[in-house]
Amino acid sequence: CGIVAYVGPKDAAPILLEGLQRLEYRGYDSAGLAVVTGKSLKTRKVKGRVADLADVVPARFKGTIGIGHTRWATHGVPSDVNAHPHLDQEQRVAVVHNGIIENADELRRRLEAEGVAFESETDSEVLSQLIGRTVQDTETLEEAVRRALKSVVGTYGIAVLDAQRPGEVVVARNGSPIVLGIGEKEMFAASDVAALIRYTRQVVHLEDGELAVITSDGFHTFTSDARETAKEPFTVDWDA
Ligand code: GLU
Repeated sequence: CGIVAYVGPKDAAPILLEGLQRLEYRGYDSAGLAVVTGKSLKTRKVKGRVADLADVVPARFKGTIGIGHTRWATHGVPSDVNAHPHLDQEQRVAVVHNGIIENADELRRRLEAEGVAFESETDSEVLSQLIGRTVQDTETLEEAVRRALKSVVGTYGIAVLDAQRPGEVVVARNGSPIVLGIGEKEMFAASDVAALIRYTRQVVHLEDGELAVITSDGFHTFTSDARETAKEPFTVDWDA
């Protein structure tokens, strides 16, 4: 339902919580976030409101790169476990997802046959498990995401963290909006400009099939066949 991501010099959690609060008007049943510190992921997720999530995120939740989500359940009941982010079984990759993966059952059966143990009932967890398997064989996270998405049928806006590459977030879209926000030595991404407007007015919209890598230095966008695209940022001039 709602996605926010941050990469920069500041602690991510307060920025993610603030962004998620701005997306509350869309309605949702659960909320969660993940940040990277050192080379490990820290995750908190709850059934309930963003305020309930804020209650379980410690004041010193260090990590300057992170992703957050508000969920509107389509596959699997609203619960703490089914809330996003979802991790792969190595706990290396974290994914938040908007949309519906239509071939989730088939992908899940295939992964389970390969020995992958699923935690949740969601369609979204096939994305984290698939990217988690793929990332072990690729040079970059974006390549792992691109390859994994080739076997996926459905709609998605996603944001992906890799604990082994703690300087970037990869986002992709197909049928669910993703917008990038450009800051000073920091970058944002979200499913809706409303989540970013407090931090920046310079934004870039992704097209269906596009993927982007954001770091504190900026962004790169690519087509699904890995050609880099040139995108002009534009300035949002309405008030939040
Ligand atoms: N289909 C996913 C789920 O049920 C994502 C729903 C959403 O867009 O929030 O968890």
